[in-house]
Amino acid sequence: MDKNNLEFLRQDFHIHATAYRNRDPQMNIKQIIEKCSKRGIRFAGIMEHLDDNHPVATIMKIKAEFAKIGLPRNIIPLFGCEASA
Ligand SMILES: [Zn+2]
Repeated sequence: MDKNNLEFLRQDFHIHATAYRNRDPQMNIKQIIEKCSKRGIRFAGIMEHLDDNHPVATIMKIKAEFAKIGLPRNIIPLFGCEASA
């Protein structure tokens, strides 16, 4: 907290895990979490699109990856999808 009693909330609620749709292999859950940790991000919203071009299977791959990796204590990950029209 700063002198004005304001807390700077370190967050990014819009991180695409594009590795699971074969776009950017470095944007997998493990590496996203590591990058967030290094940058001091406390809340990390990780997701992918959910529409005709991005099937729910991709979202399920991301969910499964969360279950596999160990998460650092300094990050609170949030998992979801970006629903497109
Ligand atoms: Zn987006």
